[in-house]
Amino acid sequence: MVEGPTAKAYAIRICENFRDEVIHDVYVRSRRVFIPINELLGRKFTGADSLGKSILIFFDYIAIRLHLMMFGAIHVYGRDEPLLKPMERVRLMLTGGCRKLVVYNAPIVEIGGLNDIVENLKASLGPDPLSSEWSEDRAIENILKNPNEKIGVLLLNQSTIAGVGNILRNEILFRAGVNPERRISDLSMDEIRKIAYYTKKLSEEFLSLKLQGKGIKELLKVYNRFSGFCMVCGGPIKFSRQEPINRKTFICINCQK
Ligand SMILES: [Zn+2]
Repeated sequence: MVEGPTAKAYAIRICENFRDEVIHDVYVRSRRVFIPINELLGRKFTGADSLGKSILIFFDYIAIRLHLMMFGAIHVYGRDEPLLKPMERVRLMLTGGCRKLVVYNAPIVEIGGLNDIVENLKASLGPDPLSSEWSEDRAIENILKNPNEKIGVLLLNQSTIAGVGNILRNEILFRAGVNPERRISDLSMDEIRKIAYYTKKLSEEFLSLKLQGKGIKELLKVYNRFSGFCMVCGGPIKFSRQEPINRKTFICINCQK
């Protein structure tokens, strides 16, 4: 699953690799096209960004929103370069003068007016730790709105904080020393503050590793460390699937109270 930092890294690469392109041809396979597709022709690429796990590509007043989920991918090719994957997998292809941007397998490809796309998305999301509009106070406020929820479940709710996926969720709670089964009403303000702080810090570290083209292995202190030992206390890492979300959950029973 693409998490916020991976979406941001894609957006930054699109900005670098698709700069100055003017659209000559569009191929799209999606039901979520809200403007006549011809309006994209002759328009210049004006930038890309991410918001939560979505990637946004801009052409003047038009925006394209992509959500890659598990299997989506984006490639920029030379205009006449052959595609690396079969055409059946292509959901969007934007051909410019020199390069073409190809989106494979993305479950969401949405094309519409920039304001509509961005405002609808913003309305559904909590603050994004990788956005200039990030607010730790708003993140804390959103967490406190759900006193009966388990913190491990709430962190995946995109309307609380945008961009946190299962890797970040596990690593944030380990850094904050909090067991994912704890209810919000049972957490101290200090613990909630730590969770918000590490959400931003780890998202930034994750992004930085992605941009350096490195794996994120050095970030992972608990995630996917089946039968591993805690780097802090040496105790065993315990694996379970947290209910009701049924997601892979790793904790150090000594360090996470
Ligand atoms: Zn430990």
